[in-house]
Amino acid sequence: MAYSVFPFNPFQANTYLWADASGDCVMIDATFQTESELSQVLDWIKVRGLNLKMLLVTHYHVDHVLGVGLFKEKTGLPVMAHQAGNLFFNQVEAHAASFGLSISGNFMPTGQVSDDELISVGGSTIRVLYTPGHADGSICLWIETDGLLFTGDVLFHESIGRTDLPTGDFQTLANSVTTKLFPLPDNTIVLPGHGPKTSVGHEKRFNPFL
Ligand SMILES: [Zn+2]
Repeated sequence: MAYSVFPFNPFQANTYLWADASGDCVMIDATFQTESELSQVLDWIKVRGLNLKMLLVTHYHVDHVLGVGLFKEKTGLPVMAHQAGNLFFNQVEAHAASFGLSISGNFMPTGQVSDDELISVGGSTIRVLYTPGHADGSICLWIETDGLLFTGDVLFHESIGRTDLPTGDFQTLANSVTTKLFPLPDNTIVLPGHGPKTSVGHEKRFNPFL
C-alpha cells in the first residue's frame, strides 16, 4: 500500500494517488492544469511500475476537475463521479472563467458511482460514502484495509467544507460527517482535498465546527 499527494492550481487542491499491494492504482481528483503537472503525477506511477486503473472525482467543483479533460486525453481511462453532481457539469466552465482559469477538453465523467458502492482495485476495495452538504454529488472514499479516507472538501484538518456555494448546507454537511465519517475507526487517516492530513479521532476531538 502506498499513496502520494500532489497539490496543484491556485486553490492548492490535492490530487492523490493510491496503490494497493498488487500495484493497481487509482487517482483521486484531477487538480493539475498542464501536461507537465500531469507528468509529475504519472511519473510517480511509472517509476514504481504501477498500473493506473481510473480517476475518481470527489465532487465537480472546478478546482478538483481542472485536469479531467487532460487525464482522459492522455490515459483514456474511466472517470467516475456521483450522479448527484450532475448540476455542476454545465457550471464548471463559467465557474473556471470567474477565477481566470480555463478548463479545456471533455471534463465529463465516463461513469457513475453510488453510495456504499464497493470498487475493486487489485485485491482491495474502496467504499464510496455519499456525503452531501458541501456540494451535491460529494463523495468520500474509504479504504478500510489501509485505514485511509479521502474526504474531498467535506472534512479538513480542524475544518469542514464551505457551505455558501450552490447546494451547500451546513446541517447536511454536519450530518454527513457525523453519521458517515465519525463512526469510522479513530485511527483512520483523513486525506482532504486541501491541506494536510488528519485522522478521524483527531477531528472528533478537535474539529471546532462539529
Ligand atoms: Zn469544493
